[in-house]
Amino acid sequence: MTQLSASPADRDNPLLAEWTTPFATPPFAAIKPEHFAPAFAAALAEHRGEVTAIAADQATPSFENTIAAIERSGRRLARVSAAFHALAGAHTNEALLALEREISPKLTAHWDAIYMDQGLFRRVSALQQGRAALGLSAEQARVLERYFIAFRRAGAGLDAAARRRLAAIGERLAALGTRFSQRVLADEQAYTLALEGEEDLAGLPQHLRAAARAAAEERGLAGRHVVTLSRSSAEPFLTYARRRDLREKLFRVWIARGEGGKDDNTAVIAEMVRLRAEKAKLVGYPTWAHYRLDDAMAKTPEAARGLLTKVWAPARGRALADRDAMQELIRAEGGNFTLAAWDWRYYAEKLRKERCDLAEGEIEPYLELDRMIAAAFETARRLFGITVTPVDGVPVWHPDVRVWEVRGADGRHLGLFFGDYFARPSKRSGAWMSSLREQEKLDREVRPLVFNVLNFSKGENGGPVLLSFDDARTLFHEFGHALHALMSDVTYPYISGTGVSTDFVELPSQLYEHWLDTPEILKAFAVHHQTGEPMPDRLIEKLLAARTFNQGFMSVEYVASALVDLDFHSLPEGEVTDVAGFERAALERIGMPDEIVMRHRSPHFNHVFAGDHYSAAYYSYMWSEVLDADAFNAFKEAGDVFDKPTADRLLRFIYSAGGSRAPDEAYTAFRGRLPTEEALLKRRGLL
Ligand SMILES: [Zn+2]
Repeated sequence: MTQLSASPADRDNPLLAEWTTPFATPPFAAIKPEHFAPAFAAALAEHRGEVTAIAADQATPSFENTIAAIERSGRRLARVSAAFHALAGAHTNEALLALEREISPKLTAHWDAIYMDQGLFRRVSALQQGRAALGLSAEQARVLERYFIAFRRAGAGLDAAARRRLAAIGERLAALGTRFSQRVLADEQAYTLALEGEEDLAGLPQHLRAAARAAAEERGLAGRHVVTLSRSSAEPFLTYARRRDLREKLFRVWIARGEGGKDDNTAVIAEMVRLRAEKAKLVGYPTWAHYRLDDAMAKTPEAARGLLTKVWAPARGRALADRDAMQELIRAEGGNFTLAAWDWRYYAEKLRKERCDLAEGEIEPYLELDRMIAAAFETARRLFGITVTPVDGVPVWHPDVRVWEVRGADGRHLGLFFGDYFARPSKRSGAWMSSLREQEKLDREVRPLVFNVLNFSKGENGGPVLLSFDDARTLFHEFGHALHALMSDVTYPYISGTGVSTDFVELPSQLYEHWLDTPEILKAFAVHHQTGEPMPDRLIEKLLAARTFNQGFMSVEYVASALVDLDFHSLPEGEVTDVAGFERAALERIGMPDEIVMRHRSPHFNHVFAGDHYSAAYYSYMWSEVLDADAFNAFKEAGDVFDKPTADRLLRFIYSAGGSRAPDEAYTAFRGRLPTEEALLKRRGLL
């Protein structure tokens, strides 16, 4: 790597200095927001210099002097970016928010300039054309192909005017994406529902009251109770609160995040949809959805839509039947009103009690956060032989963050795992996995630093943190992503870990959720937080039997979001003048039940509008579910959910393989064939 000639100010900048922390992690305690602007400036300039040198190389293009050289470049930029994005998502502040608005278009412009660079593209194209004679390994051939596709998709093959327009679109989209997510965050921070006295708290179980007290305390309202707009606060309230008026009040604000007021996102959406359509056209695709999916496992919007449509009809039918049953419940209770969207979770909970003899409140006392973390670790030990132990002294971005060292079956250091589990006002909502450093072994073995961010409610006064079954499932999901990064074993950074297509990347995470559903794991880790008793067999049986309960609702709210996402991005000109009207019309076309709202309405649909990553790709979760439902059956067919030969294949072809093969090839290597939708429909109880 080129040595940066550091100015005195740069030498004092912890982002640019050598990281001498244990495991060379970012020295978070020393990093101040004002360090980022100069660090980005230096790292961007350094990377630009490296890439210019590669493009200008007089030597005949070779894999080594072109692809490997690109892979070796920009390491400092990767470091600074990773530290920045970790903070911007999980522990932001005014200074970082301002910086994010400034830096995100700059980063996009930087990467666009590289992927549209004519000198680089000529070299990469020459290599791709002559690849047969290069004597490349399978992994090298794959990396070369991925680069060639990335350059082409960025528009490197187009004329100068088109490239200039693409660059302008890219920068504008980046700025809009940042604005979108910051407005959602602002709306979420701005609102809490205060609960005054027993009357307002009616129906809420103890642990939710404790969480509401903890949320109030965090906002300087000690001794009071508030509900926030984070999913892990709002959903339980809607499930238990007896006060119908309060459910309605919260629900209306919750589903209107990003819509109306000073943080209105609808104009941002309209502009993004239009710019994306224009970009797709410029690079030769009829729509943004065609552009995005051409490089995904689904390949075409029709394939993605086909799967969603197959699930829609039975899911809608199931949801409508459940709706009628709940209306009957309301009538039997003497209620004189029609079930509304803010009633669904409340009456679904009652219906579940009736049908499955199971209340969510019976389960939560058994799902303590620390034990569920241990359960996720134990699952990995039994499948892959890895061990996880806490480490002290590693700098973190917030005192709540915990760090573990992960070792492989042979005792080899695999990486560090950071867990950031609790909601706080400085954190984006949702749950995600990301890395501070990715695995590679181009010049030497580099092991990853991987983190999970979740938004669980804290226990009161440091007391036990109890999770819903959904929360526990999310924990397993994100740890599945983390394993995909931690166990990565590839040479080239470009295809490391989770560097796979969006509709394949949810396979390792969603597959991992299946082990939470096994008696083997529940018996050992679902232990009552007060009595220490393991979850009784009878309760485990009921819990597992109730898995398909309310799947009509859950499938409908998800599929509706995925279809609306595809609809926005299937407009050839991207013309949407009235975002709310467009959404409404799209939902009308599919017969969306009045009592169900999209899981993510457009104005706060961060997946799709906070950046391009899941745009026209929210279907990915269900696409991956076809894979994970079928993949778990491989263990069931073997008669053991920890079957060693199956786990070995899973590790080899999926969890450690990164993007070293095309997704359909990787899956076929693991399973011997591609899956059908049957396992998914069966798992959701929709067959
Ligand atoms: Zn995921």
